[in-house]
Amino acid sequence: MYLKKIELQGFKSFADKTEIELRDGITTVVGPNGSGKSNVSDAIRWVLGEQSIKALRGTKAEDVIFVGTQSRKSLGFAEVSLTIENTNGKLPIEFAEVTVTRRLYRSGETGYFINKTPCRLKDISELFMDTGIGKDGYSIIGQGKIDEILSNKSEDRRNIFEEAAGIVKYRTRKLESEKKLEQTKLNLLRINDILTEIEANIEPLQIQSDKAKKFLRA
Ligand code: ATP
Repeated sequence: MYLKKIELQGFKSFADKTEIELRDGITTVVGPNGSGKSNVSDAIRWVLGEQSIKALRGTKAEDVIFVGTQSRKSLGFAEVSLTIENTNGKLPIEFAEVTVTRRLYRSGETGYFINKTPCRLKDISELFMDTGIGKDGYSIIGQGKIDEILSNKSEDRRNIFEEAAGIVKYRTRKLESEKKLEQTKLNLLRINDILTEIEANIEPLQIQSDKAKKFLRA
């Protein structure tokens, strides 16, 4: 499994459709300061579902959309696609090649796609969970990430090791189940309240029913 292609359109400084093909070995991006090197790694993080705009070096969601220059108008949407080669089936999906796409319009409308089929952010997160590729995976090592690994805070270190150990999926499912259980407990409480209310009415209704029957018989 390896990252084969990155396609950007309208993302930060990449106004025109840009394709970056990655081949075997190491690919290095070089360029002068401010030419958009970090924007490429921001794009990868973004398409993998990054929700923290601070992590993408912006202040609001639409900061990822090409804002325009003196000679060029701003664009209405940003789109990034990542194509991953998956012949060894490391990604839990029956395709030898997987393309994940994220799109954002200035209106706030957003979309995620797996092989051009609309999906939820959750599907993309689950696809990459425990592969090390996800937005929290260890395959994107920025300066902050090194600090996290070396951090004294055990919680920060734990996240990295859990992803490497492949147990994030189970922890996420456990959290989801705990949430559902909590909601079910609340529903049960509500049902018990309703039952108590109904039970309180049974006796007076029984008396009324007896009286009505007596009246009908008389
Ligand atoms: P350095 O070597 O200094 O780290 P870099 O090559 O990593 O630089 P980036 O930080 O990736 O450069 O790119 C910064 C450039 O991207 C700036 O010129 C900035 O104006 C441009 N940029 C960022 N967001 C947008 C946007 N929404 N629309 C247009 N241009 C943008």
